[in-house]
Amino acid sequence: MPCPLRHDHFREILEQALASGYRFYTCAQYVARRPDEELVAVLRHDIDILPERAPAMASIEAELGISATYFFRLHANEYNALSHENLAIMRDLVDQGHEVGLHAEPLDLRASCGVEPATGIQVAVETLRGLLGVPVVGVASHNDITPDNNLDFFREHPAEQLGLAYEAYDEHALNLFPTSWYITDGYFWRWRAFDHGRLTDNEDCLCKHVAAARTPLYCLVHPHLWYAQHAHRVRY
Ligand SMILES: [Zn+2]
Ligand SMILES: [Zn+2]
Repeated sequence: MPCPLRHDHFREILEQALASGYRFYTCAQYVARRPDEELVAVLRHDIDILPERAPAMASIEAELGISATYFFRLHANEYNALSHENLAIMRDLVDQGHEVGLHAEPLDLRASCGVEPATGIQVAVETLRGLLGVPVVGVASHNDITPDNNLDFFREHPAEQLGLAYEAYDEHALNLFPTSWYITDGYFWRWRAFDHGRLTDNEDCLCKHVAAARTPLYCLVHPHLWYAQHAHRVRY
């Protein structure tokens, strides 16, 4: 029986990690500090849809003294990141000590609207910086309508060239995906585990990877998949 994607299990996982001695970092902190404690975890959330699902997880983390990184899309057809409600959510995340970054889709934006990719990213990042009033230093590629995904853009245009500190999958600045256990919940309701960039057949819940003391752990958790009482499945 797989673990439920319930908020109370998310809390259990984090409590278990803290009790085991894991230290948590945002992506921006990881780039800046290169932590070398015995057990290190970077917790990342991509807001593909349903930003209203973010605060519950953010509050659990904040209550436990954990800071995470939340990537928001600015061009989602499914939500308006700059609406009153969603901007308030982003600003609350910042107030709780979390990092907010751009879930970038520059190639999709060019395909749909003809916007030049570097311009699209810079305008989006400046918009977030201006409205949040804090540095926005990271982007994570979102996989959507383009055949491969928006990572292709960053392979040829490193985020640093755009005045950013990192792209979430890069191999030179953050350099975490190729050097960690990357555990993600985002694939058709199954967990996937990548060992130093290579997909494994391990489909265990994040709690099992914490129990196995894997480090560094790079965790991508999508708040829209998690729920308080009952999984009302969302179309995507
Ligand atoms: Zn995404
Ligand atoms: Zn579990």
